[in-house]
Amino acid sequence: MIRLVRPFEISTSDLIYPIFVREDGRKFEIPSMKGQEYLSLNDAVSTCQKAVDLGVPAVMIFGVIKGKDADGSVALKEDAFHLKIFKKLKAEFGENLVLISNVCLCDFTKDEYCVYTENGKVQNEKTAKMLGKIAAVQAEAGADIIAPAAMADGQVRHIRSALDKLGFGDVAIMSYIKTDSCLFKPFFSAMSQSAASRVGVDSSKFRVDVINEKMFMQKVDLDVGEGADMVIVKPALTNLDLIVRVKHEYPLLPVAAYQVSGEYAMLKLLTEHAHFDEDTLVMETLNSIKRAGADMVLTYYALHVAALIKGSLKTG
Ligand SMILES: [Zn+2]
Repeated sequence: MIRLVRPFEISTSDLIYPIFVREDGRKFEIPSMKGQEYLSLNDAVSTCQKAVDLGVPAVMIFGVIKGKDADGSVALKEDAFHLKIFKKLKAEFGENLVLISNVCLCDFTKDEYCVYTENGKVQNEKTAKMLGKIAAVQAEAGADIIAPAAMADGQVRHIRSALDKLGFGDVAIMSYIKTDSCLFKPFFSAMSQSAASRVGVDSSKFRVDVINEKMFMQKVDLDVGEGADMVIVKPALTNLDLIVRVKHEYPLLPVAAYQVSGEYAMLKLLTEHAHFDEDTLVMETLNSIKRAGADMVLTYYALHVAALIKGSLKTG
């Protein structure tokens, strides 16, 4: 009867698996995210095959490249690693797997900022234009969804127009709206190549104040107004109220939530050091995110949970 009266249950179709693909081809456990691995391009194919076999519809792709440059133009080169990833995965999986591209300058620039800055000021237009160029070449290589992560004003507008100009009207934009959070830390260590401290603009200032829901909703309004097809609320756990709010104000807008690296680390720590049952814990968090209104959840547990759902109803 409990199952009968339940309004929803997290299903495999709700899950998006984030993967880290390394240009140097080395496969090893990500030190800051125990249980998750860096993948080579070939490993990425087998991991994506697992996702397809388990019924997980989409992956979020993070490329870890060998050489970053000053302005990130390495992203636009014909032999750019990200383009190889999309070409390879699109050729292998076609329409059986949705390829989402995390598009941000920090993946390509030596200073690892998400935006261009000048004298301590964020250059929104310049950043947005470059993100548009990156989105266009990645769509051409096979990305199905562009997920701009820089939080730059104008980024969605520039990406939409760059995509449309080249005839990629069917490539969707899924825009990140992030609150500032210490929960991103394990991810930053996973993606960062430099241990150099950043000078100039504090990158936490690009994100929305963690307690200011007005700023958050202004960002949502801006991105939706510029043509975002979906938004990602990030992190999930500390923003459940904001997921409710977005869903309330935009009932027709698909909303994703990102259970980020710090949330993943918390669950792992509870499991390993406080003897919680990992499956029960993970399902409770994912169901709470879903109940808040998320249509999709990005989680490092995606494959684990899909296998769990497929294999048994024990956590039901
Ligand atoms: Zn970034």
